[in-house]
Amino acid sequence: MSSRLVTIHQFSYQHEIIGLIPLLESHNINFHFADLETVTIDPLLSQAIGGIRLQVNSNQVNEAREIVDEFLINKAEAELESEIILNNEFYYKTDEEKCKTCNSEDKVYIKQKSFLSKLFGNKQHNYYCKKCANTWKGK
Ligand SMILES: [Zn+2]
Repeated sequence: MSSRLVTIHQFSYQHEIIGLIPLLESHNINFHFADLETVTIDPLLSQAIGGIRLQVNSNQVNEAREIVDEFLINKAEAELESEIILNNEFYYKTDEEKCKTCNSEDKVYIKQKSFLSKLFGNKQHNYYCKKCANTWKGK
């Protein structure tokens, strides 16, 4: 039985593959990350050598591609979900406040306080509800 390794995806940095390895292992994919060590030691080399290349057995390409695609989509969604930019201000998700209008608990974002507002003791936080677009000030 012979099978060769096929490159199915390239990653630029080591942190991008966090969470992917256990996923591949749980599906019994035979994989190898080419140049992982090199990029880990010197991330600046990544571009020149074509990044960290995920290689799998040729007979597992389709299955592995599906796993990687799902992994990338979930990751992008999780990143999108946890922070938003609103009117050029940075908001991040909080579960410490409920929306006053729609009662949503899991779509509430809190504004990142600027250095100045911290300095001048502005104690109030600005909240934003992604579900109903309500904004309010709170503790
Ligand atoms: Zn709301």
